[in-house]
Amino acid sequence: MSFQNKLLAWYQVNARVLPWREDSNPYKIWLSEVMLQQTQVITVIDYFNRFIKRYPTVEALASAEEEKVLKLWEGLGYYSRARRLIPCAQMVVERFDGQFPKDYSDMIKLPGVGSYTAGAILSIAYNKKVAAVDGNVMRVYARLYNLDWDISIPKSKKAFEDLVMETLPEDRRHFNQALMELGALVCTPKSPKCDLCPIEADCLAKHADVAASLPIKSKKIKKKHMKKIVLRIECDGEMLLIKRPNEGLLAGLWGLACFDYEVPLEENIRYWLEDNLDLDYVSHEVIKEAKHVFTHLIWDMTLIKVIVKDKKVVDFPEVVWIAPEGLSEYPLPTAFKKLL
Ligand code: SF4
Repeated sequence: MSFQNKLLAWYQVNARVLPWREDSNPYKIWLSEVMLQQTQVITVIDYFNRFIKRYPTVEALASAEEEKVLKLWEGLGYYSRARRLIPCAQMVVERFDGQFPKDYSDMIKLPGVGSYTAGAILSIAYNKKVAAVDGNVMRVYARLYNLDWDISIPKSKKAFEDLVMETLPEDRRHFNQALMELGALVCTPKSPKCDLCPIEADCLAKHADVAASLPIKSKKIKKKHMKKIVLRIECDGEMLLIKRPNEGLLAGLWGLACFDYEVPLEENIRYWLEDNLDLDYVSHEVIKEAKHVFTHLIWDMTLIKVIVKDKKVVDFPEVVWIAPEGLSEYPLPTAFKKLL
């Protein structure tokens, strides 16, 4: 039996029951694939169910307010994914009459849709002959064919896509999902469970006893540490939230005032408040320290409670004064939630 058929048979028995697998609805597949980027399945399930309940169709999402979408996304991280949802849904509705396109060249034009997501939607929803190659799939193929291709080099991804394309069986819909599932459950990064693997007999890396050392990944991203002073600005029992700029890290979300000084000196806080928010400093107190890890960055945060004289509201940046119980209405990134 070919390795493809063994894998398909294994998937039929072992596929996890997941809400986006109930049917082959391209909207649900797209949404789940966007949520699953950099995020574990177990975390995504609840978010996905809430999202589908609120926005059951691509049309509903196309007319959503960004802030409400960001609020639903709160805690999932990598918010640029969330910000591209509405433009993508709008393009599907306006340019493709509410149907996710069936051609790769159209699909890849949708905001936030890369080669992997396009391949996943086209193969799972429409059974099109397209590979869907992510880190899991590259790992499985690197081991299956005992390949020393460096997965941190972009051209390797293309080479893996070509190889997967050559080996795609007729049932692309289930085969691509089976590959992802094998990579997630059995052919795991550190200790592959080869004794449970349906394609162990076909696996060249297993035979050569090098499975755990593949795939090759030469470039390790070193995360940069940044010191952040984070201000919980208070006046008359209310707290100030600031809307972050529409570009850059945590763009468009609400958060606390923060800046990059090394030490929380009174002059630094005083000047920052005057220069940026036209607020008059009264006192400050260091509350706690916390760390937040982003993809390429680590924030070493010091939270400082600052009392100011008056509740002024400035034109820029956009700010709001709220009582603590009002916090839940705003999309706050996890970095700030940790501190509050
Ligand atoms: Fe991965 Fe082991 Fe299966 Fe090879 S035999 S594909 S290394 S789990």
